Amino acid sequence: ANKKSVLGEVENVRVVIRIRPLNKKEVADGNQNIVTLDQEENVLTLFKVGNEKTKSFKFDHVFGPVCTQMDLYRHIAYPIVEKSFQGYNGTIFAYGQTGTGKTFTMAGNNKVPELKGIIPNAFAHIFTHIARASEEKSFAVTVTYLEIYNEEVRDLLSTTPNNKLEVRERKDVGVYVKDLMGFTVDSIESITELMNRGNNNRITRSTLMNDVSSRSHAIFTITLESKHRADNKTTIGKLNLVDLAGSERLSRTQATGDRLKEASNINQSLSVLGNVISALVDGKSTHIPYRNSKLTRLLQDSLGGNSKTAMIAMVSPSEMDYEESICTLRYASRVK
Ligand code: ADP
Ligand code: MG
Repeated sequence: ANKKSVLGEVENVRVVIRIRPLNKKEVADGNQNIVTLDQEENVLTLFKVGNEKTKSFKFDHVFGPVCTQMDLYRHIAYPIVEKSFQGYNGTIFAYGQTGTGKTFTMAGNNKVPELKGIIPNAFAHIFTHIARASEEKSFAVTVTYLEIYNEEVRDLLSTTPNNKLEVRERKDVGVYVKDLMGFTVDSIESITELMNRGNNNRITRSTLMNDVSSRSHAIFTITLESKHRADNKTTIGKLNLVDLAGSERLSRTQATGDRLKEASNINQSLSVLGNVISALVDGKSTHIPYRNSKLTRLLQDSLGGNSKTAMIAMVSPSEMDYEESICTLRYASRVK
């Protein structure tokens, strides 16, 4: 589990854990924190209340409840964004049960500077980089933002965000979403506005459809194209920032009709994602099952090869979430 890229500095696949703090309700209810971290060894230990047994898992990194948004950005996102300026594709996934901090990690609270998530911190990083390099190079930054719900793709930046889009493939361009809107942006303000528009569309759909956002994958994609002024040499890198659907299993009482179909679609796409990443890490598989879900199909050109991938698996510290936390930790350790 220690594959270095050709250039040596950034591992091609990193799997890390982030534990959120106990929330107010959990504290008020007297819920115990069942997670301990060994920050030196990057080992997380979970214990079950009323049981002597503990379970330990080792990862590339474990981030505890006091880790700040900026700590996480520096460790995980910064190197991937830098690589995408050099022409590598990169993908960052937020994985975990609903309520563990996926959206907090990817988007965060844009109104409070220190609570900004990876996406808005990437905007600042990108436009600072561009300002510094603009004498030598010219840049084009393009954004798309889509949601996959029940294996259907919708454009979060369109004025008709409820329309289903088709996934297509062409020899020259590879896999693409027909009619997906791409916007070229030249400032932090304009890219932030697009993100907010997409987030609002996601929330609106969620209100109409009983919190569909926890059951859909959202992919924010930034394409960075740079051209050397001296010789017109062009470099293109793509950065995918993915807030995955909640990984929780459905309780048996809910397992009927539409919810059952949703749950099995989520289950299927998360397990295909795990299979794809572990096949890439393993390096011996001749067949990578990208085609088995829309998510992996759309991200095919950004997973594998020289691409940089980070999976941040979110875990609740509460005794009440023991079972789901075990599932998340197993998934994350199986991936790598
Ligand atoms: P998810 O997207 O996985 O369903 P959210 O990101 O919406 O979860 O987080 C659930 C709640 O917990 C939110 O109120 C969020 O602000 C809070 N939260 C999550 N992670 C953290 C953290 N690391 N520090 C502080 N608050 C957090
Ligand atoms: Mg969320």
